[in-house]
Amino acid sequence: MTRDEILSTYTDISIIEHPFVKHKLTSLRDKNTSTREFRMLVEELGTLIGYEATRDLETVDTEVETPLETTLSPVLKGKKLCIVTIMRAGNGLAEGVLKLSPSARVGHVGMYRDPDTKQPVEYYLKMPHSINERTIIVVDPMLATGNSAIAAISKMKDMGAKDIRFICLFAAPEGIEAFKKAHPDVPMFIGTIDRELDDHAYIRPGVGDAGDRIYGTR
Ligand code: URA
Repeated sequence: MTRDEILSTYTDISIIEHPFVKHKLTSLRDKNTSTREFRMLVEELGTLIGYEATRDLETVDTEVETPLETTLSPVLKGKKLCIVTIMRAGNGLAEGVLKLSPSARVGHVGMYRDPDTKQPVEYYLKMPHSINERTIIVVDPMLATGNSAIAAISKMKDMGAKDIRFICLFAAPEGIEAFKKAHPDVPMFIGTIDRELDDHAYIRPGVGDAGDRIYGTR
C-alpha cells in the first residue's frame, strides 16, 4: 500500500507534519549524526510528537489563588499518564514524552524476535498499577513489521487498558497496515511513513538500527 492508500483506508493515523519534526527526522537519517546527537533528537521528537498525541487529554477546572484573586483554572483530569516503552529503542522516545509529564508512570515491555517463527517473544514486562484507569502511550521509534507493537498493545489490552495511543518516528506501510488490522481502535501518531521494509525487516530509507544508534552499540 502507498502512503496515500493507507491514509485513505485507515482512520486515526496522524502524521506530524510540523517543520521541526521534519527537520529532526532528516537529521536522524543522516549516517554521520553522532550517537549523542541521535539520542537527543529522539528525545526531542518524543516531546514534539507526544504533545500532539496528548492534545485531547481531559482537564477539569480547579480553584487556584493568584496573588490577586481566586479563580477557576484547568488541570489535567484523572490518573497520571502511563508511558510504555518497547525496549530498548523506545526508552529514548519515552524520555521525551516524560518531559511533557514528568510525573507520568512508565511501563517497560521487552520483546525479541524468535529467529524461527519470526514472532515477538516477551522477555520482560513491568507495568504500573491501575492501567485500566490511565491513558497509555506506547512508544517505539521504528514501526517495521509492527509485530512488537501489536503484541505489546495486545498485552496492554489483556491487562485491562482501554485508552491506548501509539507513537513512532518512522513507519513502514506494511507495519501500519498490520497494526491497524490488529488494533483499529488505537490512534497512531507518526513522524513519517517511509517507502518500504527490506528483506531484513529494516525500514527504507529509514535510519538503520535505532537502538544501536541511540546507544552506540555498533
Ligand atoms: N528497527 C530498527 O531499529 N530499524 C529498522 O529499520 C527496523 C526496525
